[in-house]
Amino acid sequence: MVAQRRLLGRLRELMARGAGSLPELVRLVAGELVSEVCSIYALKPGDILELAATEGLRPDSVGRTRLRVGEGIIGLVAATSTALNLPDAQNHPAFAYRAETGEEPYASMLAVPVRRAGRTLGVLAVQNRNPRRYDPGEVEELETVAMLLAEVLAASGAEDSAAEGLGATVPRRFPAVVLVPGLAMGPVVVLGAAPAPGRLLAENTDAELARLNRAVTTMQQGIDALIEAGLPREAGARNADAAASREILDAYRLVAADAGWLRRVADAVRGGLSAEAAVHRVAGDLRDRMRRITDPYLRERLADLEDLAGRLLGALNGGGHTAAAPPGAILLARRLGPAEVLDWHGRGIAGFVIEEGSAGSHAAILARALGLPAVSVPRGILETAEDGDAVILDAAETQAGCQVILRPEQDVIALYHRALDARTARQAGFAALRDLPSVTRDATPITLMLNIGLALELAQLEATAAAGIGLFRTEIAMLARGAIADVPEQAAVYARVLDAAGDRPVLFRTLDLGGDKLLPGSDLPVEENPAMGWRSLRIGLDRPALLRRQLRALLLAAGGRPLSIMFPMVATVAEFRAARALLLAEAAKVRPAPAQLRIGTMLEIPALMFQLPALLKEVDFISVGTNDLMQFLFAADRGTPALANRYDLLSPPMLDLLGTLSDQCRAAGVPLSVCGEAAARPAEALTLVGLGIESLSMPASGILPVKALLRDVDLGGFRRVLAAIRRTGDGAATLREPITAWAREHGVAL
Ligand code: PEP
Ligand code: MG
Repeated sequence: MVAQRRLLGRLRELMARGAGSLPELVRLVAGELVSEVCSIYALKPGDILELAATEGLRPDSVGRTRLRVGEGIIGLVAATSTALNLPDAQNHPAFAYRAETGEEPYASMLAVPVRRAGRTLGVLAVQNRNPRRYDPGEVEELETVAMLLAEVLAASGAEDSAAEGLGATVPRRFPAVVLVPGLAMGPVVVLGAAPAPGRLLAENTDAELARLNRAVTTMQQGIDALIEAGLPREAGARNADAAASREILDAYRLVAADAGWLRRVADAVRGGLSAEAAVHRVAGDLRDRMRRITDPYLRERLADLEDLAGRLLGALNGGGHTAAAPPGAILLARRLGPAEVLDWHGRGIAGFVIEEGSAGSHAAILARALGLPAVSVPRGILETAEDGDAVILDAAETQAGCQVILRPEQDVIALYHRALDARTARQAGFAALRDLPSVTRDATPITLMLNIGLALELAQLEATAAAGIGLFRTEIAMLARGAIADVPEQAAVYARVLDAAGDRPVLFRTLDLGGDKLLPGSDLPVEENPAMGWRSLRIGLDRPALLRRQLRALLLAAGGRPLSIMFPMVATVAEFRAARALLLAEAAKVRPAPAQLRIGTMLEIPALMFQLPALLKEVDFISVGTNDLMQFLFAADRGTPALANRYDLLSPPMLDLLGTLSDQCRAAGVPLSVCGEAAARPAEALTLVGLGIESLSMPASGILPVKALLRDVDLGGFRRVLAAIRRTGDGAATLREPITAWAREHGVAL
C-alpha cells in the first residue's frame, strides 16, 4: 500500500511535469516493481502493437518490434483486454519470438492492457528472469500504473508525436445483424458507459474515503428505495423496463456478495486513487472476470455492473448522469426497451446499435415504426467506442453487407455520403409510387396497410397512401407515457386514430403487454420465460377490469362508426370466446353502438391452427402475427440475435402453415391478413401474396417498396412456380433461393 502510494506519487510528479516521457516511466515502473524489464507497447493504426519504450530489452528494438493484435502474448492481452500472469511465458502457446528484443533470459511475464474509457491503447508488461507468478498485489499495482499510463499517453498525445498513434483512433468494423434497414452516420452516444474520471489521484486519502463512504450510502439508499418501490426512479436509467429493475436489484445483491466489491474500491482509494478512479478500476476488473463467463444470465450482469458503477459515480458527482444526444447521434447500448427507444427518438438520434435484441424484438419493431435504422452487434463494440466517435451504421438489407464502422477513414465517409444520397434518390423514386394503385402486373389488387402504435405515426397514412391501419398496437402509447391511460384518455387516442383513418379500416389490437413490453411499476411476476408467460390476452382474461376498460374506450371512440377489434396471443377458441363475451357485454352498454362491430383474432400461437374449423365459424377476421408465430413454431426466441437465422418465413413449415390458413380462410369467407414484420420484407411479401394472402400490414417504411415490387409481379405465373417450388422443397431449411431466383429472372427487384 505504502509502496503503491509512493509509486503513484512519483507518477503524479511525472504527469505534473507534463513530460509524458515513456522511457522515464518504464524506468520508474521497473524500479518500483522490482522487475528487470518493463515495456510499453502502443497500439498503432492497422491494429499493430509497437514497442514504444522499454527498460531492460534492447533499446534499438523500440519502434522496430511490432506485433499484430492477437499475435504473441502482448497481442493476446490487447485482443482480449485481459491481463496475463505467466511464470513461463516462452512456453505459452501464444508466445511469439522476436530476436531483436533480446528477451531470451526472461522467463516470467506480467502483461496488462492499457485502457482508457473502455478502449485499449496498448499493453504494459514487466518481465523477470526467475520463473515466478506475480502476486495479486503486484498485478493490481501494474494495472493501476496502466490506468495512469493511459492518461499520460492521452495527455501528451498532442505534443508528443511518439504518443500520437496511441489514441487508438483506428477504424474498426463490426459485422452486424440488421434490425431495421437503413443507413445513418453521426457521432456515437454510448449509453451506460461511465465517463472517464477527471481526477485520478486523491490529495487527501482520508477525505477521499469519507467522500466515497458518503456516496456509497447515497447509492445504497437509492437502491433501497428501488427495492421498496420495485423500480428504478431516475430518468435515463433503464427504468421503463421492469426486467431491468429486477436485474439492477439482482446485480446489487451479486456485487454486494462479490467478496467485498466496495472494500476493493476503498482499498484502491487507500492506495492513492480518487474515488472515481477507484470505482473505474474495480468495475473494470470485475468486467474482465465476467467477460470470460459464457453463461448468458451471468453475462447479463455485466450491464448491471456498469449500471451500478454508474450509480456510484453518479452519487460521487452529486447526482445521476443523464445522457444528452447531439442531433443525428447514433446510440450504442447493451440493450434497449421499447420505451427507451421512444425516449431516445425524442432526443433526435439517427439510429441505434444494441448488443442484445433481434429484428422481432419490440425495440426493433418500434424503431421500424419510427424509421430509425438499427442493428445488433453481438459483442465488442461497446467496449471499443467512446462518446463522440464517428460511426457509420450500415444496416444493409442483405445480411452480408450489414456492418457498423467505428471511426471510419475519410474516404469511407465520402463513400457513404454518396450512398446516402443514392438512398435519398431511391426514396424519392418510391414516393412517386404513392398515388399509383397497389396491384400486381396481372391486375390483382393487394391491400397494403400500416402497422402503427402512436398518434405521431398517423401522418404515415397520408405519406404512404396506405389502405388503412392493419395493426394498431394499443400498448405502445401506454409504454410511451409509462402508464395505463384511463378510459377518457384512451378513448381520445383511439378517436384520433379513427378520425385520421376516415373511411379506411383500422384494426385495433387490445393490450399486448408482458414479454418485453413492460410498464414501469408493473407488478408482473418474474418469469423464467416471459414470452410464453403471463402476458397479453392472458392478463386481459385473468384481470378483466383492465381489458373491459379498454374495450369501453374503443367503443366510445367509435361513437357509432364501424369498429374492428382483435385479440392478441389467443391460444384456444375458448379464449377467443371469453374475450368476445367481454367485448359484447361492454358493447351492450355503450351508445351509440358501432355501425358495425367486427371481432377478430391474431394468429400467433400454432395451437390455433389445429382449431381452425371451430375458429373460422366464430371470427370476423384473422391477422397473422408472424413475429410471435415463428418464435413459437420454431421454439426460437425472437429477441435473440444468435437465433435470427434459425427460422424463416420462406421455410416449408411456415409456407405450409400459411398456405393451409390462406386456403381455409378463403373457403370459409374469413378475411385474412398478415401483420408481422415479415410482410415488409420484399421476398416475404411476394411469397405471402403468392400463397393467396392479399392483405398485408407493415411498418410505413415497407409500404412503397412492397408496392413497387408487387406492381412488377406476374402473380399468376409466380403462384404456379411457388407451388412447384413447394412440392420439390421437402426437407429444405428454406426455399428462399429458388423464390429469389424467380424474382431475379423475372425482373422483380427484391
Ligand atoms: C406479431 O407477433 O407478429 C405481432 C404483430 O405482434 P407483436 O410484434 O406486437 O408481438
Ligand atoms: Mg405478437
